[in-house]
Amino acid sequence: MHEMSVAVAMIERLEELVRQYGAERVTDVTVSIGAYSGIDAEALKLCFPVAAKGTHADDARLIIESVPLTLHCRSCDGLCRVDSPVPLCLWCHGADLEVVDGTELKIKSMEVI
Ligand SMILES: [Zn+2]
Repeated sequence: MHEMSVAVAMIERLEELVRQYGAERVTDVTVSIGAYSGIDAEALKLCFPVAAKGTHADDARLIIESVPLTLHCRSCDGLCRVDSPVPLCLWCHGADLEVVDGTELKIKSMEVI
């Protein structure tokens, strides 16, 4: 359960942005979570309001978009979009795969007033 520290880090980043833009408070936050980021979206939803208490993001709505894990195959140049890592390319069964997307958590956008 490291979602709490993730939520706290998100709030810190939001607070920075709020100061930067001179906003009053955050109303909506959209984050994208990679399927292979190791972050549990449901747990994050629970942690976020707790971490946001007393900050500019108190009562902000958290919108979560999941990003599938995307692997690029160097053998056939194909892209595999999967929910969990696969050892072999879905197209040519080659094993020369690299991760191109789906491992990160990022704040995509926020709405402020
Ligand atoms: Zn392939």
